[in-house]
Amino acid sequence: MEQNTHNKIQGKVFEEFCDSIGRENVFDNIEERVCYSFDATKEKSIPDLVIRPHSTEQVSNTVSIANQHNIPICPRGAGTGLSGGSVPIKGGIALDLKNMNRIVELNARDLTVTAEPGVVTKDLQDEAAKHRLFYPPEPGSAGFSTIGGNVAECTGGMTGMKYGVTRDYVLALEIVLPDGSVINTGSKTLRSVAGYDLTRFFVGSEGTLGVFTEITLKLLPLPEMVGTVMAYFKDIDSALETTDSILIKNHLHPRSLEFADKTCIDAVKGSAGEKIPEEAEALLLIDVDGNKMNVANDISRIDVLCRENSALKTSIAKTDDERDALWDIRKSVSTSLFKITSMKFNDDFCVPRSQVREVLKKVYELGRTYSIQVAAFGHIGEGYIHLNVIYNDVKAVDLPVHKLVSQILDEVVSIGGTITSEHGVGDAKAEFTCPTSSFRRVELELAPHEIEIMRDLKKMFDPKGIMNPGKIFV
Ligand SMILES: Cc1cc2nc3c(=O)[nH]c(=O)nc-3n(C[C@H](O)[C@H](O)[C@H](O)COP(=O)(O)OP(=O)(O)OC[C@H]3O[C@@H](n4cnc5c(N)ncnc54)[C@H](O)[C@@H]3O)c2cc1C
Repeated sequence: MEQNTHNKIQGKVFEEFCDSIGRENVFDNIEERVCYSFDATKEKSIPDLVIRPHSTEQVSNTVSIANQHNIPICPRGAGTGLSGGSVPIKGGIALDLKNMNRIVELNARDLTVTAEPGVVTKDLQDEAAKHRLFYPPEPGSAGFSTIGGNVAECTGGMTGMKYGVTRDYVLALEIVLPDGSVINTGSKTLRSVAGYDLTRFFVGSEGTLGVFTEITLKLLPLPEMVGTVMAYFKDIDSALETTDSILIKNHLHPRSLEFADKTCIDAVKGSAGEKIPEEAEALLLIDVDGNKMNVANDISRIDVLCRENSALKTSIAKTDDERDALWDIRKSVSTSLFKITSMKFNDDFCVPRSQVREVLKKVYELGRTYSIQVAAFGHIGEGYIHLNVIYNDVKAVDLPVHKLVSQILDEVVSIGGTITSEHGVGDAKAEFTCPTSSFRRVELELAPHEIEIMRDLKKMFDPKGIMNPGKIFV
């Protein structure tokens, strides 16, 4: 990757940052910088400087000096992103926001919480729960990712079926723009239509438009309880039939409706906290929440529906520990796939619910055509699939994997789906390259004039292109 800014951050410019932000918050030693060279995609590109601000003013000063000297800024939360978003691929400054981790105000009567970007998602959820309130978005990384990163990626997660994604909870933002100025978007009210919806525009912008320094989120009353059913099926069709049965035919509204296929099930079998039927080719994990009576009622109805659709086995969690054990099976899928291989390629796409069966058929068909093992799991109730392409031969990353992924994404787009639904584009998903060919993924979904509009908007906010360059658009 290009590393072309280093000499710009030495001497006078370096001193300028230190004078303005405090020497103790500016790090130029290699030991610190290397820690900011990757995210969960394991890409490596070392920043020239790390800055850890404690306030909006320090963020503003940092960005303003960087802007004057054309130095790239890469905002960073916990670095758990899955598309390279917080990897400073053009060098410059890694702006670590973890020290801005105060919950500024939780207003229980207004059902809002205002927090700095570095607050860890679970800490915010735990604080809300103390007031019997609920912040629903629940990424698998909730224990370590930050609210700032969640907003920048429009993170989804396990409760999306009923509660939606991060975007649905962001009411207002304080943002430092690339020239160092500070704007406030939205309002702390639960509704507002005053002017264009800039808040929604910035959510999911992957650090390419500005830095969030304060975030106001909507809260909900905490459901009295959550109930969980796990069901194993002899084939994928029976599992998908069950999801329709639950949602469409019986109008039940689970908060989670998760799926995993045979390859995933086989990967977790050895370590699962319960006995998994040998012949299981699909699993569903279903959560419902609400008051005790409704939850008990819905859980037993869902259990019956699973059995009516030929479930091989169902398990209903009776305690929190049993619930955790069932969820551990689902949550360990991604890492357990490494038991099969040390190399896999992850993708995340979403199709209209009615198209899930078709797209999965295509995925397995293409896997057979190219003799490549594929594994699928995800938030199936929303048509969301984590696709894992498994290969043992590094050469396979070349043409067959390339063809397989591009044909799957073509199919996804042709049936009205999207090429990424919660992990963002970053640079990892901006372009798929291999030695013999490459294709730009965003261009599969967006028309050239639509991309042009987005580029123009980016230019308006960031004319010098200092904010997280190289991300989203190649
Ligand atoms: C084990 C695991 C499970 C995961 N599960 C899920 C899941 O269920 N659902 C899901 O959607 N994702 C999931 N993820 C992906 C990841 O956790 C999310 O994308 C998360 O929101 C990233 O937060 P972060 O604090 O780590 O941000 P980072 O990775 O540090 O940054 C992500 C992006 O946000 C930008 N950014 C960060 N802070 C700011 C800020 N204050 N202002 C402007 N831009 C900013 C960065 O520049 C970057 O582009 C998972 C990741 C892992 C490793």
